[in-house]
Amino acid sequence: MPPVVAIDGPSGSGKSSVSRAAAQRLDVAYLDTGAMYRAVTWSALEAGVDLSDPQAVVDHVDSVGLSVGVDPEAPTIAVDDVDVTEAVRESRISAVVSAVASVPAVRERLIEMQRSIIEQARDTGLGIVAEGRDITTVVAPDADARILLVASQEARLRRRAEQLHGAQGAQRIEEIRDEVVRRDSDDAQVTAFLEPAPGVTLLDTSELDFEESVAAVLAIVAS
Ligand code: C5P
Repeated sequence: MPPVVAIDGPSGSGKSSVSRAAAQRLDVAYLDTGAMYRAVTWSALEAGVDLSDPQAVVDHVDSVGLSVGVDPEAPTIAVDDVDVTEAVRESRISAVVSAVASVPAVRERLIEMQRSIIEQARDTGLGIVAEGRDITTVVAPDADARILLVASQEARLRRRAEQLHGAQGAQRIEEIRDEVVRRDSDDAQVTAFLEPAPGVTLLDTSELDFEESVAAVLAIVAS
Protein backbone atom coordinates (compact mmCIF):
# COMPACT_ATOMS: atom_id res chain seq x y z
CA MET A 1 0.00 0.00 0.00
CA PRO A 2 1.55 3.38 -0.98
CA PRO A 3 2.35 5.30 2.21
CA VAL A 4 1.08 8.52 3.75
CA VAL A 5 4.20 10.48 4.71
CA ALA A 6 4.18 13.63 6.88
CA ILE A 7 7.18 15.97 6.75
CA ASP A 8 7.62 19.17 8.77
CA GLY A 9 10.43 21.68 8.96
CA PRO A 10 11.37 25.35 8.92
CA SER A 11 11.97 27.31 5.72
CA GLY A 12 15.21 26.42 3.95
CA SER A 13 15.45 22.99 5.59
CA GLY A 14 15.14 21.61 2.05
CA LYS A 15 11.69 20.39 3.00
CA SER A 16 9.80 21.30 -0.18
CA SER A 17 12.29 20.05 -2.75
CA VAL A 18 13.18 16.94 -0.76
CA SER A 19 9.50 16.12 -0.07
CA ARG A 20 8.58 16.55 -3.69
CA ALA A 21 11.44 14.35 -4.91
CA ALA A 22 10.50 11.70 -2.32
CA ALA A 23 6.90 11.78 -3.62
CA GLN A 24 8.15 11.34 -7.20
CA ARG A 25 10.32 8.36 -6.28
CA LEU A 26 7.55 6.76 -4.20
CA ASP A 27 5.10 7.49 -7.04
CA VAL A 28 2.59 9.10 -4.69
CA ALA A 29 0.86 12.52 -4.54
CA TYR A 30 2.57 15.61 -3.10
CA LEU A 31 0.93 18.26 -0.93
CA ASP A 32 2.72 21.56 -0.20
CA THR A 33 0.65 23.05 2.64
CA GLY A 34 2.80 26.20 2.77
CA ALA A 35 1.57 27.02 -0.74
CA MET A 36 -2.00 27.00 0.63
CA TYR A 37 -1.17 29.58 3.32
CA ARG A 38 0.68 31.58 0.68
CA ALA A 39 -2.31 31.45 -1.70
CA VAL A 40 -4.71 32.74 0.97
CA THR A 41 -2.19 35.54 1.62
CA TRP A 42 -1.93 36.33 -2.10
CA SER A 43 -5.70 36.51 -2.34
CA ALA A 44 -6.05 38.73 0.75
CA LEU A 45 -3.44 41.14 -0.66
CA GLU A 46 -5.24 41.21 -4.04
CA ALA A 47 -8.48 42.05 -2.25
CA GLY A 48 -6.81 44.84 -0.25
CA VAL A 49 -7.49 43.12 3.10
CA ASP A 50 -5.71 44.68 6.07
CA LEU A 51 -3.56 41.76 7.26
CA SER A 52 -3.04 43.33 10.67
CA ASP A 53 -6.81 42.92 11.29
CA PRO A 54 -7.45 39.20 12.06
CA GLN A 55 -11.23 39.61 11.71
CA ALA A 56 -10.81 41.07 8.21
CA VAL A 57 -8.62 38.07 7.31
CA VAL A 58 -11.24 35.65 8.73
CA ASP A 59 -14.01 37.40 6.77
CA HIS A 60 -11.94 37.04 3.62
CA VAL A 61 -10.83 33.41 3.96
CA ASP A 62 -14.27 31.89 3.43
CA SER A 63 -14.52 33.55 0.03
CA VAL A 64 -11.22 32.10 -1.24
CA GLY A 65 -11.77 29.27 -3.75
CA LEU A 66 -8.56 27.24 -3.46
CA SER A 67 -7.67 24.41 -5.86
CA VAL A 68 -4.64 22.32 -5.05
CA GLY A 69 -2.90 20.16 -7.68
CA VAL A 70 -1.02 17.27 -6.05
CA ASP A 71 0.93 15.84 -9.00
CA PRO A 72 4.57 15.79 -7.76
CA GLU A 73 5.77 16.36 -11.34
CA ALA A 74 3.92 19.69 -11.47
CA PRO A 75 2.29 20.77 -8.20
CA THR A 76 -0.08 23.72 -8.64
CA ILE A 77 -2.16 26.09 -6.55
CA ALA A 78 -5.01 28.24 -7.86
CA VAL A 79 -7.31 30.85 -6.37
CA ASP A 80 -10.69 31.02 -8.11
CA ASP A 81 -9.14 29.41 -11.19
CA VAL A 82 -6.20 31.87 -11.32
CA ASP A 83 -2.98 29.84 -11.23
CA VAL A 84 -0.81 31.42 -8.52
CA THR A 85 1.82 28.67 -8.29
CA GLU A 86 4.62 31.10 -9.21
CA ALA A 87 3.13 34.26 -7.70
CA VAL A 88 2.91 32.81 -4.17
CA ARG A 89 6.71 32.35 -4.03
CA GLU A 90 7.36 36.12 -4.27
CA SER A 91 9.10 37.70 -1.29
CA ARG A 92 6.19 40.14 -0.75
CA ILE A 93 4.17 37.01 0.17
CA SER A 94 6.94 35.43 2.30
CA ALA A 95 7.16 38.69 4.24
CA VAL A 96 3.55 38.58 5.50
CA VAL A 97 2.38 34.96 5.25
CA SER A 98 3.06 34.23 8.94
CA ALA A 99 0.49 36.88 9.94
CA VAL A 100 -2.18 35.13 7.89
CA ALA A 101 -1.11 31.66 9.11
CA SER A 102 -1.45 32.81 12.72
CA VAL A 103 -5.20 33.43 12.39
CA PRO A 104 -6.94 30.38 13.96
CA ALA A 105 -9.91 30.40 11.54
CA VAL A 106 -7.50 30.35 8.57
CA ARG A 107 -5.67 27.36 10.05
CA GLU A 108 -8.95 25.56 10.77
CA ARG A 109 -10.15 25.96 7.20
CA LEU A 110 -6.85 24.92 5.60
CA ILE A 111 -6.26 22.01 8.00
CA GLU A 112 -9.71 20.66 7.10
CA MET A 113 -8.86 20.84 3.38
CA GLN A 114 -5.45 19.25 3.97
CA ARG A 115 -6.95 16.36 5.94
CA SER A 116 -9.49 15.71 3.23
CA ILE A 117 -6.78 15.69 0.49
CA ILE A 118 -4.69 13.25 2.58
CA GLU A 119 -7.70 11.02 3.35
CA GLN A 120 -8.57 10.87 -0.33
CA ALA A 121 -5.01 9.86 -1.20
CA ARG A 122 -5.16 7.15 1.46
CA ASP A 123 -8.62 5.89 0.50
CA THR A 124 -7.87 5.72 -3.22
CA GLY A 125 -4.59 3.89 -2.56
CA LEU A 126 -2.58 6.69 -4.20
CA GLY A 127 -0.46 7.56 -1.15
CA ILE A 128 0.93 11.05 -0.47
CA VAL A 129 3.84 13.05 0.91
CA ALA A 130 2.41 16.07 2.75
CA GLU A 131 4.76 18.76 4.03
CA GLY A 132 4.47 21.85 6.21
CA ARG A 133 4.84 22.94 9.82
CA ASP A 134 2.16 20.95 11.65
CA ILE A 135 1.63 17.87 9.48
CA THR A 136 3.34 15.39 11.82
CA THR A 137 1.50 16.76 14.85
CA VAL A 138 -1.91 18.18 13.87
CA VAL A 139 -2.85 17.46 10.26
CA ALA A 140 -1.76 13.81 9.93
CA PRO A 141 -0.46 12.48 13.27
CA ASP A 142 -1.52 9.00 12.09
CA ALA A 143 0.73 9.09 8.96
CA ASP A 144 2.72 5.94 8.18
CA ALA A 145 5.99 7.89 8.45
CA ARG A 146 6.51 11.22 10.25
CA ILE A 147 9.70 13.19 9.78
CA LEU A 148 10.99 16.53 11.08
CA LEU A 149 13.60 17.91 8.68
CA VAL A 150 15.95 20.39 10.29
CA ALA A 151 19.15 22.16 9.22
CA SER A 152 21.40 24.73 10.86
CA GLN A 153 20.42 28.34 10.27
CA GLU A 154 23.53 28.89 8.10
CA ALA A 155 22.70 25.88 5.90
CA ARG A 156 19.11 27.11 5.53
CA LEU A 157 20.22 30.65 4.65
CA ARG A 158 22.60 29.28 2.02
CA ARG A 159 19.88 27.14 0.42
CA ARG A 160 17.28 29.91 0.43
CA ALA A 161 19.80 32.32 -1.16
CA GLU A 162 20.64 29.75 -3.85
CA GLN A 163 16.93 29.15 -4.47
CA LEU A 164 16.34 32.88 -4.98
CA HIS A 165 19.57 33.92 -6.68
CA GLY A 166 21.08 30.78 -8.23
CA ALA A 167 24.87 30.73 -8.50
CA GLN A 168 25.12 34.25 -6.97
CA GLY A 169 23.38 32.96 -3.82
CA ALA A 170 26.50 32.75 -1.65
CA GLN A 171 27.13 36.50 -2.03
CA ARG A 172 23.56 37.44 -1.13
CA ILE A 173 23.01 35.60 2.15
CA GLU A 174 22.92 38.82 4.20
CA GLU A 175 20.03 40.18 2.12
CA ILE A 176 17.77 37.36 3.20
CA ARG A 177 19.06 36.79 6.74
CA ASP A 178 16.45 39.14 8.25
CA GLU A 179 13.59 37.53 6.36
CA VAL A 180 14.54 33.98 7.37
CA VAL A 181 15.30 34.83 11.00
CA ARG A 182 12.09 36.85 11.39
CA ARG A 183 9.90 34.21 9.74
CA ASP A 184 11.42 31.49 11.96
CA SER A 185 10.51 33.54 14.99
CA ASP A 186 6.99 34.45 13.73
CA ASP A 187 6.28 30.83 12.82
CA ALA A 188 7.55 29.55 16.15
CA GLN A 189 4.72 31.49 17.81
CA VAL A 190 2.17 29.54 15.76
CA THR A 191 3.51 26.05 15.14
CA ALA A 192 6.06 24.33 17.33
CA PHE A 193 8.17 22.78 14.62
CA LEU A 194 11.63 22.77 16.12
CA GLU A 195 11.23 19.78 18.44
CA PRO A 196 10.10 16.42 17.09
CA ALA A 197 6.87 15.23 18.72
CA PRO A 198 6.91 11.67 20.15
CA GLY A 199 7.15 9.15 17.33
CA VAL A 200 8.52 11.71 14.84
CA THR A 201 11.95 10.97 13.32
CA LEU A 202 14.38 13.90 13.37
CA LEU A 203 16.47 14.25 10.21
CA ASP A 204 19.23 16.89 10.24
CA THR A 205 20.19 17.75 6.65
CA SER A 206 22.83 20.42 7.45
CA GLU A 207 25.64 18.19 6.19
CA LEU A 208 23.65 16.32 3.53
CA ASP A 209 23.32 17.26 -0.12
CA PHE A 210 20.00 17.01 -1.92
CA GLU A 211 20.34 13.38 -3.06
CA GLU A 212 21.51 12.28 0.38
CA SER A 213 18.54 14.04 1.99
CA VAL A 214 16.05 12.33 -0.34
CA ALA A 215 17.72 8.96 0.28
CA ALA A 216 17.53 9.53 4.05
CA VAL A 217 13.79 10.31 3.82
CA LEU A 218 13.16 7.21 1.69
CA ALA A 219 15.10 5.07 4.19
CA ILE A 220 12.92 6.36 7.05
CA VAL A 221 9.76 5.65 5.02
CA ALA A 222 10.99 2.11 4.27
CA SER A 223 11.95 1.36 7.86
O1 C5P B 1 6.66 26.21 3.63
P1 C5P B 1 6.53 27.66 3.26
O2 C5P B 1 7.72 28.47 3.64
O3 C5P B 1 6.10 27.89 1.86
O4 C5P B 1 5.31 28.16 4.17
C1 C5P B 1 4.90 29.50 4.15
C2 C5P B 1 4.32 29.89 5.50
O5 C5P B 1 3.07 29.23 5.72
C3 C5P B 1 5.16 29.54 6.71
O6 C5P B 1 6.12 30.54 6.97
C4 C5P B 1 4.12 29.46 7.82
O7 C5P B 1 3.79 30.75 8.28
C5 C5P B 1 2.87 28.96 7.10
N1 C5P B 1 2.63 27.52 7.25
C6 C5P B 1 1.96 27.08 8.38
N2 C5P B 1 1.61 25.76 8.49
C7 C5P B 1 1.92 24.88 7.52
C8 C5P B 1 2.63 25.30 6.36
C9 C5P B 1 2.98 26.63 6.27
O8 C5P B 1 1.67 27.88 9.26
N3 C5P B 1 1.54 23.61 7.63
